[in-house]
Amino acid sequence: MTTEIDELRERYRQEREKRLRDDGLAQYVAFEGDFEEFDRDPWVEPGFERGAITEEVTAVIVGGGFAGMLTAVELTRLGIRDFRIVEKAGDFGGTWYWNRYPGCMCDVESYSYMPLLEETDYMPAEKYASASEIFEHCRRIGNHFDLYPHALFQTEIENAAWDDDERRWHITTTRGDRLTARFFVTAGGILHKAKLPGIPGIQDFAGRSFHTARWDYDFTGGAPREPMDKLADMRVGVIGTGATAVQVVPQLARTAKEVYVFQRTPSAVGVRNNGPTDEEWFRSLEPGWQAERMKNFTQAVTGEKPEQDLVQDGWTDVLWDATNETVETEAEREELERLDFEVMAKLRARVDDVVDDPETAEKLKPWYGKHCKRVCFHDDYLAAFNEPNVHLVDTDGVGVREVSPAGPVVDGVTYPLDLLIFASGFEVTTPLAQRLGFDPVGRSGRPLSERWHDGAHTLHGVLSADFPNMMIISTVQAGFGTNFVHFLSESAKHVAALVDTCLREGIEAIEATPEAEDEWLAVLHDVAMGLAHYSASCTPGYYNSEGARTSQGARNLVYPGSLLHYAGYLERWREAGDMAGTVVARSD
Ligand code: NDP
Repeated sequence: MTTEIDELRERYRQEREKRLRDDGLAQYVAFEGDFEEFDRDPWVEPGFERGAITEEVTAVIVGGGFAGMLTAVELTRLGIRDFRIVEKAGDFGGTWYWNRYPGCMCDVESYSYMPLLEETDYMPAEKYASASEIFEHCRRIGNHFDLYPHALFQTEIENAAWDDDERRWHITTTRGDRLTARFFVTAGGILHKAKLPGIPGIQDFAGRSFHTARWDYDFTGGAPREPMDKLADMRVGVIGTGATAVQVVPQLARTAKEVYVFQRTPSAVGVRNNGPTDEEWFRSLEPGWQAERMKNFTQAVTGEKPEQDLVQDGWTDVLWDATNETVETEAEREELERLDFEVMAKLRARVDDVVDDPETAEKLKPWYGKHCKRVCFHDDYLAAFNEPNVHLVDTDGVGVREVSPAGPVVDGVTYPLDLLIFASGFEVTTPLAQRLGFDPVGRSGRPLSERWHDGAHTLHGVLSADFPNMMIISTVQAGFGTNFVHFLSESAKHVAALVDTCLREGIEAIEATPEAEDEWLAVLHDVAMGLAHYSASCTPGYYNSEGARTSQGARNLVYPGSLLHYAGYLERWREAGDMAGTVVARSD
């Protein structure tokens, strides 16, 4: 007899099958070649110039987003101020510099997400902060910790090469700088490199098109918090229905003449329920509250069930049980599966509650497990489909496969548009050199892309053999979490501690051993194996390298367990103090 659970399993299987494609990550294209114009920085005035710098510093940090800033703050705390931050953008902020699309905000509560609130004595205005408030906070951190004099903005690394005789990194930039550094920290961002779907014809689209991370307010009118007044007569299309589109669509619905949302996989969208910060509560928090709250949130969303759920929001509700965890018996597994189905059923029921048209509602329902894709939370996204000017173009898992000069073509129907917006996400697990935009050269002139031709080789995702004193902050072979800033805080602490230990102990060069890299990969695979049963039912997406089954995919995985477990590895390693799994060269 077929049970309801059997039917759900079968539905999930079918939805996954529809979406699996042989090209995996290769279905996307970067802002290069024909698409270079997509990468233009809309937030700086053209014509910036400055003189080239030649200097020697203790550390060069690539990236001025939270990863780079937090590393700089940790170094500062350790008394190390001799560093440079090289940043492509015109200011600090990383993702919050680039992403200024209408409605942009952080889906993790501000009190856990916005770092250094105690140090900077800042109270977020609301439980979930807008992108502009977070960007301002980045600038606040830059000022508070006096990071601006260390920054080289609108500057990109051209070359970075290790000199084994001098035991130094030699770095050149697009502004002619020549930097020599003992340590080289690549903090290039988790969601730094935006991607476009490689749909035939997109470069021939005759209207305006851009990616959400480079919003063109000159074209749309308005500003992040002001209505886009130039869209009143325009037909606008959005490709993608992930966390970004969920925030953008309601804003477009308010101002554009017609909005077409091209959907491949629906997001699960829970209740947001934002509100102003209770000042009395905020002022009553005891010192050390933020680290505790960050940890409590991560525990609550990784199934570690803290005694008290301090955050109490959609995230902690949906992810309270880790239904993807390893269990001993089939009965336990079935119980977790049942819990997962229940949570997703509630999210599907919400679609029926909010969306008036039953056919549209059906198409907006997510059919996959709650750990497969990032759950979204928004109070206006689903309701936007009740507006007469908003049209869902569901592609039944296939995605848009053709764009004509007039607009996207789906099922033989052309949707003529004035503006086509790509809410198509970012590279997460592609090769590091590709994401960084340069290829670090290690010992004996060997580029990283060559040593990592079959995927990443690291200890903890941070150190790599033949790349002495290069410290990587990236999710590949490292942690991950609902709250990215928690992960970045742990990584920054680790990197700064490594630098400090080397300086204190006269270690001139440190790198991972190949054996330690293999052992770390075995740890990652062990944890991944435990989750394999769950992942096997997931629709593709950036969580699973688009369902990739390549050797690179097998290496470029993110630590699949709890962020706190990953952080535990780092902490135990530091506490042991024996630099296990590395080779070090000391000053003679
Ligand atoms: P995602 O990678 O999550 O979404 C990309 C979307 O594009 C998916 O819906 C994908 O469909 C769709 N897509 C790709 N190709 C096609 C195609 N050919 N036709 C139709 N659709 C297509 O990117 P986002 O920018 O939405 O989010 C990325 C991450 O950024 C989030 O997961 C989150 O971590 C972060 N973010 C965080 C926010 C926050 O509040 N903290 C806000 C916004 C983003 P499919 O699912 O089928 O692949």
